[in-house]
Amino acid sequence: MGDLADRLATIDERIADAARAARRDPSELTRIVVTKFHPASLVEELYGLGVRDVGENRQQEFSRKAAEVGALAGLRWHFIGQAQTNKARAIRAAASVVHSLDRSRLADALDAASEPGDAVLDVLLQVNLTDDPGRGGVAPDDLEALAAHTAALPSLRVRGVMAVAPLDEPPAAAFERLNRLAGAVRAVVPDAEWISAGMTADFAEAIAAGATHLRIGSAITGPRPERG
Ligand SMILES: *Cc1c(COP(=O)(O)O)cnc(C)c1O
Repeated sequence: MGDLADRLATIDERIADAARAARRDPSELTRIVVTKFHPASLVEELYGLGVRDVGENRQQEFSRKAAEVGALAGLRWHFIGQAQTNKARAIRAAASVVHSLDRSRLADALDAASEPGDAVLDVLLQVNLTDDPGRGGVAPDDLEALAAHTAALPSLRVRGVMAVAPLDEPPAAAFERLNRLAGAVRAVVPDAEWISAGMTADFAEAIAAGATHLRIGSAITGPRPERG
C-alpha cells in the first residue's frame, strides 16, 4: 500500500511537471489508472488513495472486477480494449467511458444496448496510427464518417479521440498526428475535446501534444501479474 501510494504520487508529480513544461494546467488532465490483470482489491486500494478513474481492456475481466468492486461513489470505469459487438450490453452496463469505439457496427451495438434509465455513454473514437490494419482503431481516412455516424446515435456522446502510439515511430510525431485528427473530429462534433493518449512510456509526449486523458498502468500498479 505504501509503495502504491508512492508510485501514484511520483507519477502525478511527473504529470504535473510535463504539463508545466508544455505550459498547460495539470488540472486539465485526467489520469486513468489501468488496472488490467490486477485483482479487484487493487482498485479498492487505489480508490482509498483518491483514484476515481480506472481503466480495463478485456471485457470479461472488466465485468467481473466491476461486479466485485461494486458501487463506490464517484468511481469511473474506462473501457480501453477491443470490444466485440455481442458484448456491448456488458460493456455498457459497467463503463462510464468507452475509449475504443472504432467502427460503426460497434457504435450501433452500444447504442442498441442502451436500456431505459441508462445515462448517455461517453465514447472516444479510437484511431489507428499505424499502417497495420490489424491494429485496433479506425483508419484516419474513415474517422470523420465514424464521428458523424456515432454523433447521430441518441444514447452515445462523442467526446473525442483515443490512440496508442505505434512502436516504430517516435511518440511525439504520432501524437501530433492524433492532435490534428482530433481537430477533424471537432469539425463534425464541436465539443469533442478529449484526447486519450499516453501510457507509462510516453505520457509526457502525449501531454505536450494536447492529451487530456492519460492511461497509465505499470508505472503505478507495478508489473502486471501473469494473465490468467
Ligand atoms: C495496458 C494499456 C495501457 C497502460 O499501459 P502501461 O504501459 O502499463 O502504462 C494504456 N492503454 C491501453 C489501451 C492499454 O491496453
